[in-house]
Amino acid sequence: MENKRIVSGMRPTGKLHLGHFHGVLSNWLKLQQEFECFFFAADWHSLTTEYANTEGIRDSIREMVLDWLAFGIDPEKSTIFVQSQVPQHAELNLILSMITPVSWLERNPTYKEMQENLTAKDLSTFGFLGYPVLMASDIIVYKAARVPVGQDQIPHLEITREIARRFNYLYGEVFPEPAALLTETPKVLGLDGRKMSKSYGNAIFLSDNAEETRKKVMSMVTDVQRPLRTDPGEPDRCVAFTLHSLYVAEEKRAEIVASCRGAQIGCVDCKKILAQSVVDTLSPFRAKREELAATPSLVEDVLAEGAHKATEEAGQTMKDVRAALKV
Ligand code: SF4
Repeated sequence: MENKRIVSGMRPTGKLHLGHFHGVLSNWLKLQQEFECFFFAADWHSLTTEYANTEGIRDSIREMVLDWLAFGIDPEKSTIFVQSQVPQHAELNLILSMITPVSWLERNPTYKEMQENLTAKDLSTFGFLGYPVLMASDIIVYKAARVPVGQDQIPHLEITREIARRFNYLYGEVFPEPAALLTETPKVLGLDGRKMSKSYGNAIFLSDNAEETRKKVMSMVTDVQRPLRTDPGEPDRCVAFTLHSLYVAEEKRAEIVASCRGAQIGCVDCKKILAQSVVDTLSPFRAKREELAATPSLVEDVLAEGAHKATEEAGQTMKDVRAALKV
């Protein structure tokens, strides 16, 4: 039987924003129609950088999973769980760390990059260096065939494949080498033109109400070379227009492009059109989120059920691992 299993996780960063909506979640929604999906909240991964600040992780998990459910990630179709509730991830991590050469981890491109960028945190820890091993454990503990990744995450998956191959070489064939399932994710810009991110304070959250959303859209940077309403503008230079491309119908967009270049529309009116489209698109999601949030135990129940299913699968793999290891 073809292995149609997929594993994908998200760090619990709290409420999700439009960047998640058009990136990971839209893909998950499609994948769950076709594959056997394991979606998890990667709370142990949060510890690799947030070990000194664990206060909000539990609440973040709840908010994030509520967003998943409201978006349509379906616990009947997919296994939804929290990484730390399935201890086999940690057990396999320990075993894989015994066979993973340190040089593989040191050459991981994001390792140095993150250490250089996150200077406020001391990331010279064993856990941070070893997070690709934990990532490998997250995936192969389910013997997943595929992992949805963007182009930039391919080096991580390559380490996972190398670790699986090394295990199989040393102890016998236990793990399939998971293949990359390349996913396209549009880069969603935040209000200020940088990548949309909670930590930059430039995000529109899925759970923002209509008024908050409108206010945020109206504050978006436009074409900075168009100081006056009478100056012709250029949508290709406009941060707000990157959202028009995602939310405004093609015909209307073509109209806006012409009116902007011909100085027939002002940025305020143009952003009002955008704000309305964003609000309209998100309103069914928001209604659903509110409805789900009214059942306080819902997220907990979904996660308990998910942890149960995931533990069964991961437990089976660990039996194979122990048999192969002979310890
Ligand atoms: S009119 Fe619209 S597309 Fe043109 S610069 Fe202003 S906000 Fe951007």
